[in-house]
Amino acid sequence: MKPESLMMSYGFKPELSEGAIKCPIFMTSTFVFKNAEEGKAFFEIAYGHREKKENEELGLIYSRINNPDLEILENRLCLWDKAEDCAVFESGMAAITTVLLEFLKPNDVILISNPLYGGSDHFIKKILPKFNIQVLEFGAGQSKEEVALLVENSGLAAKIALIYIETPANPTNDLIDIEAIKEIALQFSSPEKTIPLAVDNTYMGPLWQHPLKHGADLVLYSATKYIGGHSDLIAGACLGSKELMQRVKGMRTFLGNMASPHTGWLLLRSLETLKARMDLQAKNASQVAAFLSSHPKVEKVYYIGNIKEEDIQFAIKEKQCLTNGAMISFDVKGGEREAFLFLNSLKLIKLAVSLGSTESLAEHPAAMTHCDVSKEDKEKFHITEKMIRLSIGVENDEDIISDIQQALEKL
Ligand SMILES: *Cc1c(COP(=O)(O)O)cnc(C)c1O
Repeated sequence: MKPESLMMSYGFKPELSEGAIKCPIFMTSTFVFKNAEEGKAFFEIAYGHREKKENEELGLIYSRINNPDLEILENRLCLWDKAEDCAVFESGMAAITTVLLEFLKPNDVILISNPLYGGSDHFIKKILPKFNIQVLEFGAGQSKEEVALLVENSGLAAKIALIYIETPANPTNDLIDIEAIKEIALQFSSPEKTIPLAVDNTYMGPLWQHPLKHGADLVLYSATKYIGGHSDLIAGACLGSKELMQRVKGMRTFLGNMASPHTGWLLLRSLETLKARMDLQAKNASQVAAFLSSHPKVEKVYYIGNIKEEDIQFAIKEKQCLTNGAMISFDVKGGEREAFLFLNSLKLIKLAVSLGSTESLAEHPAAMTHCDVSKEDKEKFHITEKMIRLSIGVENDEDIISDIQQALEKL
């Protein structure tokens, strides 16, 4: 069956919860063992002291290690990405930083794509160097050969321990070829050291792009966005092979940054409507993009659906993206003054950061989500003063467009 058919039931046994049709919230810190032998066995598995026997499951121990709301949620999230295992976190940043801390150590190098989400950019460029972890960067639009050359010329190839990319990139919708970057990972791996590739799939996931299928080793989400989808929670997720996820979950146990049972329960509810919401959001976005693309006050539209066949990004889009997404950025004619006037004139669309939710949102990346990105990088990646970023929601498409229209008329 398709994941959307399984989101209401998969992994939950009503008979274990008094016949309840929905998974209750297991607000409990700890779980009672049947006997001391069982407690010993659970700990042996949890700490990896021995392999699981056939049909043996990791029992419930303590809610920092596992909890039914989180386990059922993780099992359901695995279905969309066809992943072996998943870990959910208290935020997208918690998922990302846990992966970075698990796979990097002092003297290592991380290879990243640009631009990245502002929080990831800050952690990688400002906090990792404190631990003597160096950063090598490439930009969306650079070919595989250019990236390989850049790595070779840096003299740091032997120290690369992790590759981290974001595609489509926030806020410009620039695409990066996941398969090509996986080839880079393999090229610089050695028998002693394999370089994992982690992909932040927040902008497209988990429905519209499946990085694991294209060779990624880990896929990351801010579950605050589409997965949560109602602007009422903060959460994150990481998915991958059993082997890598054991490491990620191990680090999560000791950082203690798992999601709470209540957040897990809210996300279970969100998953039931995930496909219905995202389908409508993508459909609405295509209408909005068409409207913006022909508006005289709009200079340029950054939307996956607008990538032209002659553009080298077109082949990447065809390979990786199952829809054009629901994120649209655009430059108004003018600068910050005109962009702010547009934002201040919106009535239906809310002026707020975040994305992927039921309500449409608008923001100014240069002054808000990406204010911390250096001036040079902003210029390089076209994060201009005249740029507006839109996240398209599930409202009526004509209402969204007429709101944008009346705000553009103020310019
Ligand atoms: C929001 C976001 C994050 C961070 O997630 P939080 O849930 O806010 O911690 C990471 N990556 C991308 C692409 C995002 O949009």
